[in-house]
Amino acid sequence: MTQRTALVTGGTGGIGTAIVRYLAKQGHKVVTNYRDEAKAQAWHKAMTQEGIDITMVQGDVVEPVSCENMIQAIHKKLGPVEILVNNAGITRDTTFHKMTYQQWMDVVNTNLNACFNVTRPVIEDMRTRKWGRIVQISSINGLKGQYGQANYAAAKAGMHGFTISLAQENARFGITVNTVSPGYVATDMVMAVPEEVREKIIAQIPVGRLGTPEEIAHAVVFLTTDETSWITGTNLKINGGQYMGW
Ligand code: NDP
Repeated sequence: MTQRTALVTGGTGGIGTAIVRYLAKQGHKVVTNYRDEAKAQAWHKAMTQEGIDITMVQGDVVEPVSCENMIQAIHKKLGPVEILVNNAGITRDTTFHKMTYQQWMDVVNTNLNACFNVTRPVIEDMRTRKWGRIVQISSINGLKGQYGQANYAAAKAGMHGFTISLAQENARFGITVNTVSPGYVATDMVMAVPEEVREKIIAQIPVGRLGTPEEIAHAVVFLTTDETSWITGTNLKINGGQYMGW
C-alpha cells in the first residue's frame, strides 16, 4: 500500500476522529485542522496515547485565507495533500420561518462553502500528480430533507452537487470524488438531540440503532484506496436502511 498524505477536516469530532484513526492505521500520514489550541492539545494527547501519530494544523474551514495557509503548512510538513476528506460540519437547527440569516450562513459556510475553501488549494497538485481521493461527508438529510434543517439539508445536498461536478472534471486525472451520506450516528451532534426525539429517530431505522463513527470511517477508507479508482461521483448512503432513495 502506498503511504499518502491525508487531510481530514474536523478530524477532532466524533466521526472525524474515527476517520483519522482508520486512515492512520492504513499507514497514511494524517493531518487535521484545529481552531482551539487547548482543545486540540487534549485531543492530540489522547491520540498519541493510543499510539496514533497525527499532525495538527491551525485552520478554519470557513475562511479561504486560513485554508490556503493550512494547505501550505501541510505541504511544507508532509508534502501535497493526496487524500482529502471534507468532514467539518455544524448544525443550527430551527424551522425556516424562524431561521436567522446568520444561522443560514453559518451552516452553509461550514458545510458547503468550506468544500471550495479547502479543495481549491489542493486540486492543482492532485491534477499534476495524477492521483487524488476526495470524499465529502454529507448527510441523509441532504437526500430526504428534514424538518428544522432547511439550512443543513440545502448545504448537504449542495455538497453532492459539488462532488458530481468535480468528479467529471477530474476523472481523467486519476482523481476520484465521492460523497458519503451518513444517517444518524452516535456522536455529540446527535446525542445533543433530546432523548425523546432520538428514540423517534431510532424507531425509523430498520437496523434498529444509531450508526457508529467507525462504520462511517470504514466506508471513507474504502473510497480512498487505489482499488476504488473506478468509483467516482457516487453517493454512498450509510444509514441503517433509514432512507433508501436516490
Ligand atoms: P462533531 O460536531 O463531533 O465534529 C465536527 C468537527 O468539525 C469538529 O472537529 C469541529 O471542530 C469541526 N469544525 C466545525 N466548524 C469548523 C470550522 N469552521 N473550521 C474547522 N473545523 C470546524 O460532528 P460529527 O463528527 O458528528 O460530524 C462530522 C460530519 O458528519 C459533519 O459534516 C456532519 O454534518 C456529518 N454528519 C453527522 C451525522 C451524525 O449523526 N453525527 C449524520 C450525518 C452527517 P471544533 O472542535 O473546532 O468545533
